[in-house]
Amino acid sequence: MTPAAPVAHAPRDYDVLIAGAGLVGLALAPALAELGLRVALADRMPVAMPALPEGDADWDPRVYAISPGSAAFLRSVGAWQALAPERISPIESMRVAGDGGASLGFSAYDLGERALAWIVEERALRAALVPCVRLAGVDTYAPQTFAALHWSADSGTLDFEDATQVTARLVVAADGLRSWVRGAAGIVAAIEPYGQTAVVANFACERAHHGCARQWFLPDGGILAWLPLPGHRISIVWSAPAALATELLAQDAAALAARVATAGGHVLGALETITPAAAFPLAFMRLPASVAHRVALVGDAAHGIHPLAGQGVNLGFGDAEALTAVLRERGPVADAGAPALLERYARRRVEPVRAMQTVTDGLVRLFGVSDPLLKTLRNLGMSAVDRLPLAKRLLAQSALH
Ligand SMILES: Cc1cc2nc3c(=O)[nH]c(=O)nc-3n(C[C@H](O)[C@H](O)[C@H](O)COP(=O)(O)OP(=O)(O)OC[C@H]3O[C@@H](n4cnc5c(N)ncnc54)[C@H](O)[C@@H]3O)c2cc1C
Repeated sequence: MTPAAPVAHAPRDYDVLIAGAGLVGLALAPALAELGLRVALADRMPVAMPALPEGDADWDPRVYAISPGSAAFLRSVGAWQALAPERISPIESMRVAGDGGASLGFSAYDLGERALAWIVEERALRAALVPCVRLAGVDTYAPQTFAALHWSADSGTLDFEDATQVTARLVVAADGLRSWVRGAAGIVAAIEPYGQTAVVANFACERAHHGCARQWFLPDGGILAWLPLPGHRISIVWSAPAALATELLAQDAAALAARVATAGGHVLGALETITPAAAFPLAFMRLPASVAHRVALVGDAAHGIHPLAGQGVNLGFGDAEALTAVLRERGPVADAGAPALLERYARRRVEPVRAMQTVTDGLVRLFGVSDPLLKTLRNLGMSAVDRLPLAKRLLAQSALH
């Protein structure tokens, strides 16, 4: 018998190819597959279940404040209900302190919500989402290196380095802030570094936090957030000027805990470091467009925001939910990448994304200026908002959904 000649494989064909399996891509994939669309998901990293610790030891330093709106979306894909309740902490109230003695408080009770948000570990979210991807029948291409992306009138084709090709009516860029797909689609992004690095770490605290998240705008322009974890524990995000971040990262566990406790006025007593610090450089990015020919951008590929409001992934889940809704409501249009659908998606997202970027970026810049008059004004403004329930409700509303 003569051996079979090598066969050139035709590209595998899908309605939607999601390039990037971060939390946003992982959530979008099952949501679209549930609509009956043929969906593929690709990433340079394996799409695998992370190992979860036993009991209440070992806390992931990457945690997210998941808004009630995002929680509802995650529930709709089957992930929220798979999270272990003992690893989640509700934010029941929040206190924000200005750099001149002012403060602003929010409470879930006043807003008629069960929680302002829930603090969830990244790996727990991944572990909940990966089975949803599998159950929904999504084909995964991972780990794979993206090599080239080319376009025809009715599709995009992604070539991987191993010569596998995947074609889809719609290519979704879910590959993060420095998105390769966005560049290949010709959307030019100006990424503006904030000159700050987010230092994250987890601590055991002496006193109960009572589900209260706290945030301080510090005199050096930095922003420190303490987020409640289950039990007597907190997770911090210290958006620090680059030099201070380097200093914090170099400190040993005891010195770091003492420094963080002092910066927070010892409101929870003494702290003990339980997860070493990790660092994330921070940048702002606003794009001229969130769609292009056969492409839609979602998550950090579509917008970069400061983490002070804990809204980056929530905005990304909002993108995923909006794209799912547009494709669900597409009527007789079979083509998932039809220009009219992409325009509809872009229109739905422009306002929520712009509003969140304006508020978060505006706050960073407002508190980043050291002018004494401005300092007085911003603190007076903060105290005034605190006395206006309607203004507070309006401020909180966009963060809840
Ligand atoms: C310190 C900090 C705290 C934060 N806290 C919060 C919070 O409390 N709440 C909140 O809502 N948001 C928060 N955010 C924001 C949040 O982390 C991001 O918005 C979110 O992770 C973006 O998810 P994503 O899936 O869009 O992108 P990513 O998580 O960046 O995922 C992108 C995926 O694409 C893959 N990829 C990238 N490039 C390629 C390539 N060339 N080839 C193949 N694969 C590729 C990557 O492997 C990855 O899997 C925080 C951010 C920081 C820095």
